[in-house]
Amino acid sequence: MHSSSERTTGSPRADAGTGLTRRHMLALGAGAGLTGVAAGLPGAWGATGGRAGRVVEPFTLGIASGDPVADGVVLWTRLAPEPLQLGAMPNRPIPVRWEVAHDERFRRVAAKGTVQALPESAHAVHVEVEGLGPGREYFYRFKTGQELSAVGRTKTAPRPDQDPRRLAFAFASCQMFEHGYFTAFKHMAQEDLDLVVHLGDYIYEYGPYEYVGRSGNVRLHVGREVESLDDYRLRHAQYKTDSDLQAAHAAFPWITTFDDHEVDNNWAADVPENMAGPNATRESFLARRAAAFQAYYEHMPLRRGARPIGPDMLAYRRLTFGRMAEFSALDTRQYRSDQACGDGARVDCAARLDPNRTMTGPQQERWLLDGLEHSRARWNVVAQQVFMAQRDTDPGPPQRFSMDAWDGYAAGRDRLLAHVQSRRVPNPIVLTGDVHRSWVADLKADFDDPASATIGTEFVGSSISSTGDGTAENQDAVLAANPHLRFFEDQRGYMRCELDAERWRTDVRVVPYVSRPGAPITTSASFAVINGAAGAQPA
Ligand code: FE
Ligand code: CA
Repeated sequence: MHSSSERTTGSPRADAGTGLTRRHMLALGAGAGLTGVAAGLPGAWGATGGRAGRVVEPFTLGIASGDPVADGVVLWTRLAPEPLQLGAMPNRPIPVRWEVAHDERFRRVAAKGTVQALPESAHAVHVEVEGLGPGREYFYRFKTGQELSAVGRTKTAPRPDQDPRRLAFAFASCQMFEHGYFTAFKHMAQEDLDLVVHLGDYIYEYGPYEYVGRSGNVRLHVGREVESLDDYRLRHAQYKTDSDLQAAHAAFPWITTFDDHEVDNNWAADVPENMAGPNATRESFLARRAAAFQAYYEHMPLRRGARPIGPDMLAYRRLTFGRMAEFSALDTRQYRSDQACGDGARVDCAARLDPNRTMTGPQQERWLLDGLEHSRARWNVVAQQVFMAQRDTDPGPPQRFSMDAWDGYAAGRDRLLAHVQSRRVPNPIVLTGDVHRSWVADLKADFDDPASATIGTEFVGSSISSTGDGTAENQDAVLAANPHLRFFEDQRGYMRCELDAERWRTDVRVVPYVSRPGAPITTSASFAVINGAAGAQPA
């Protein structure tokens, strides 16, 4: 069932219930002027609200679409006339109309309806549109009162049995607001893509200047380290006010999955980073996790199956793009064993090899292995958070591994890669974020034996802004100590992937700085994976 249904309202003045105060309406001058000018122009609501990415009040947080399937997509917005203030909206439901059209001017409407923005969801709106055509471009917009949102563009997935000629997407992660501008997203919005995949660290939880980037903290978080639902809502709202981020949301449907900083640095299941403050007890940390999940859901274009229930949220899911590609988006936080040997980078941590340790939890692991085994797609993508390939960060004789990455959960990684190998899963590709650097890796049957089979390919995207401006840092000694690691670079940006039947291409898209706006974008390196041959090669 739709979360909303078209209601026949006799009067076009469906704004009677918005309840926006006169002060709000005055603040919304630009939007009001736009709708005034709109009278008589095409489309039932008058003119389009504006180009993608342009903010029209009370849609200060932009608009988004996500989780595309063959006959529909999720549309998202949130009413927030004063995004950095609590209580700016009336404490009651507000009707929001939505429209999906074949054309940017809304002459040919494909679907429409009205949904109630509820105060208990911070007046967020999630519409699960159904009945659309497969593999097609659509435009969408919202209206409440006389206020029109910007116009978004989205695209449905091909039918599972369809064989599209091409699929293009970008993936990104790690956008610490204080460390830099989101210029990479402005460039991403200009790409020719079918979708965007976000691998987490969409927000950071810290108070102002608690996490300092190397090029300074160029703009500051509002509020303290986030703990309460109000805190998390304000933090998400602050990030969403970024116009470059809004432009990338408005241009493509996104698949989003969280990592640690959406809740607390390096949390694991019910274990926080530090047992102190809001994390002093298991119960208090779970309350914090519930608040974080609720705010995350409220700000992402997610389906209702992902709506949190208390501290639990079903975030892992599978999305299919015809016979071309299937994406398994993982949750590597909520069900994982606590980091071994006290977390951090460790030498001689035997506990990391314990077969009872898990990164995914048994249920998600079963779901992942089954899905990969039965996939009919050519490219099988595991979209997840933390480094999967073994990475010995000590070039000398001892091996030093990150306990937060799959190296700290080696048995689970072995089970996954052995399964992929034995079931001959076609073209496994792992997408990763978290480390704020770009890496490319071959996934090996035995990472300590360079002669062992290469089973899959891992692309580790850099960060949008986290850690600040890029450097000429090299990891040549680490690359030499880990022959399956093929590439390293420390520049901000994202990865762009273009797939066809014979070849996967990844372009490393980078901006030279994030400490001030306006950086250009370039491709610093390109890699190819050939159908049927695991492992990346220079393209
Ligand atoms: Fe990060
Ligand atoms: Ca992270």
